[in-house]
Amino acid sequence: MHHVKHLFCTLCHHKHPPDAKTMTCPRCGEKGILDVIYDYERIKAHFNKDTLRKATDRTMWRFAPLMSVSDPPKTRLHVGGTPLYACTRLADTLGLRRLHIKDEGSEPSGSLKDRASAVACAQASAMKRRVLSCSSTGNAASSLAAQAARAGLESVIFVPARAPVGKLNQLAVHGATIVRVDGDYKAAFEMSKTAISKYGWYNRNAAINPHLVEGKKTVLFEIAEQSDFRLPDWIVVSVGDGCTIAGVHKGLKDLLALSMIDSMPRLLGVQSEGCAPFVEAWRTKSDLVEHEEDTLADSIAVGIPRNPRKGLEAVKQTDGAYVSVSDKSILEAMKTLGALEGIFAEPASAASLAGLTKALEDGIIRHDESVCLIHTGNGLKDPDNARKAVEEPPLIKPDERHVVEYLEKRGVI
Ligand SMILES: *Cc1c(COP(=O)(O)O)cnc(C)c1O
Ligand SMILES: [Zn+2]
Repeated sequence: MHHVKHLFCTLCHHKHPPDAKTMTCPRCGEKGILDVIYDYERIKAHFNKDTLRKATDRTMWRFAPLMSVSDPPKTRLHVGGTPLYACTRLADTLGLRRLHIKDEGSEPSGSLKDRASAVACAQASAMKRRVLSCSSTGNAASSLAAQAARAGLESVIFVPARAPVGKLNQLAVHGATIVRVDGDYKAAFEMSKTAISKYGWYNRNAAINPHLVEGKKTVLFEIAEQSDFRLPDWIVVSVGDGCTIAGVHKGLKDLLALSMIDSMPRLLGVQSEGCAPFVEAWRTKSDLVEHEEDTLADSIAVGIPRNPRKGLEAVKQTDGAYVSVSDKSILEAMKTLGALEGIFAEPASAASLAGLTKALEDGIIRHDESVCLIHTGNGLKDPDNARKAVEEPPLIKPDERHVVEYLEKRGVI
């Protein structure tokens, strides 16, 4: 790992060696979240626009020279290399100059979490750990279960009681051991923490494990590469624990340090009104306080975010903003994404479009600016909430007259 300088404690600013076995700062304990610091001078020589142009790997591992875990497991799923869509119809509807959507719904397990789980499996294999564990509202878990299965590893997943059934089924199909805790995300997290330390499993709790953000940041590298390194004015992403937005920010800092981009887009973090600790901390310029978890956007319902610093800094340092949106506007956004762009998003993902709409209304984002939205998770996993967003089709008598009447009402004939 000669391209990593050290692991930097975001709390006490102590530097730890790059191969330190600990996940968090031993001096600060669990709050001492580490940040991987690279030797950019060294990296520049074998990672630049030229080398990328010649790179043949179409997965996230094409960015391995800029990651802290560089050796993927031999048997793996195809993670990364997802499409970036130009969305002119949706841009026109919003009155926005330019809009792109990065489609993470097409990852193997259906969410951006696959990028972090890929790193987890790579590192666990290298460390000869057989069991990986995490607590999750769903996507981190299902992505870990899928990738552990493919890599020949085992996964133990702690989920809160309200995890959607589609996501639980996904875990079960991938052969994970599911510990369904009769409580909220917080309770599931505490239980996983205890078990992980007791049994020495590999810890895939994203906020605590500094290498996972390094996997998530590859989404930004791809957006940059797919935009020919001309990034939009804003990147919009929904926020739960804060690791995704922190990953995007880290990716931007990397590219800036390597002179591959010359300015930073601003980051818009979106939360649901029913669980918006980041929005409140940002608005009141104070520390994060625990928030209740009352939203249908389960993947971003995180009452006590585990990555408060990195998540807040991402928005502060890019001169961005945090907004919160109602569940109603999230359901509306689900319909819009589906009907105008063919994208089926789960509520937590659709929140990003609801947030963009709000930011335009509030004048945070101007109509003459360009935006990239990150579609973080596939809606197919959560049919119950999708049903809330749409109207049930009426049952029509098997009689041509009634069918014609209905088609006329819909305006298709
Ligand atoms: C996890 C997740 C997010 C938010 O990511 P954090 O790292 O928790 O902030 C957003 N959307 C979906 C679909 C997710 O699964
Ligand atoms: Zn520390």
